[in-house]
Amino acid sequence: MSTDPRLFIDAPLSAGAAVPLSREDAHYLLNVMRRGEGDPVRVFNGRDGEWSAQISHASKKAAALTVGAQTRPQLGVPDLWLLFAPVKRQKTDLIVEKATELGVAAICPVTTARTQSDRIKYERFQAIAKEAAEQTERLDLPEIRDIEKLDRVLDAWPADRVIIFCDESGDEAGEAWGGARGRGRPMAAALTPFDPSRPAAILIGPEGGFSPAERERLRALDHVIPVTLGPRILRAETAAIAALTIWQSACGDWR
Ligand code: SAH
Repeated sequence: MSTDPRLFIDAPLSAGAAVPLSREDAHYLLNVMRRGEGDPVRVFNGRDGEWSAQISHASKKAAALTVGAQTRPQLGVPDLWLLFAPVKRQKTDLIVEKATELGVAAICPVTTARTQSDRIKYERFQAIAKEAAEQTERLDLPEIRDIEKLDRVLDAWPADRVIIFCDESGDEAGEAWGGARGRGRPMAAALTPFDPSRPAAILIGPEGGFSPAERERLRALDHVIPVTLGPRILRAETAAIAALTIWQSACGDWR
C-alpha cells in the first residue's frame, strides 16, 4: 500500500483537475509531512474514489495539487450509525476518532436524561473524523449529525433500522436474558442470526447510564435489541469501541 500522504478534499476529482488546498491541508503537507512541489499525494472526496495527485504549487502558506489517475473506485462503509451521549471532551473526541476508524456511516450525538453536556463542537468533530478517515484508508467521511434529544431521535426513527441498545443493567438480576426487564442478551449472540443488509445503529449511554424511563421506552420498541457487553461496566468510550467491533465482526465488513 502506498505511503504517500492522503487527503480528503471537498471538491470534484477527475484526471487533470487543479485543486487548491485549504490552509490546514497545505500546512499538513508542507510543514508536517515535509513535502514539496512535484511530490505525490493521494486524494479522495467521498464520492469519486481515490486518486493519485501531485503537488503542483507550494509557497509558504498555500499549495495546490494536480489530480492524476484514479487508484481505487469508490467504496462505502456498512450502514451502521453510532448514537452516543457526549461525555468529557477528550473521551468524546476519542469516540469520534475510533468510530471513524471502525467504519461507521454516521455519528449521531444524543442528549439523554443524564448527559453531562448538550453542546458539541461540530467543527471539531468534523476535523477529527477527516483526520481519522485520511489515516485509516477510508474513502468517505462519516456523516456527523447535529446533537438531538434521544426522545426526538426515537420519535422520528426509521422502523427498518434496528437499534442495538447497550444496556449494562437489568432491573431483575435473576431474570433470563432478554424479556422486558431482565438483562440484555450478550451482544454477539443477540446478533446471530442477523441479516447483514439490515441497517443498524448502536446506542451507548452517558457515564451515569440511562434513566429508568429511557430504558423502559427503549425496551418497549420492536426495533430495539437490548444487549450486554459482559459482566463489567465499561466506560462509555470503551463500550462504543467494543460494540462497534462486535458488530463489524458479526454483521459488517470484517466478516
Ligand atoms: N450506569 C452505569 C455506567 C454507564 S456506562 C453506572 O454509572 O454505573 C456508559 C454506557 O456504556 C452505558 O450506558 C452503556 O450504554 C454502555 N455500557 C457500559 N458497560 C456495558 C456493559 N457491560 N454492557 C452493555 N453496555 C455497557
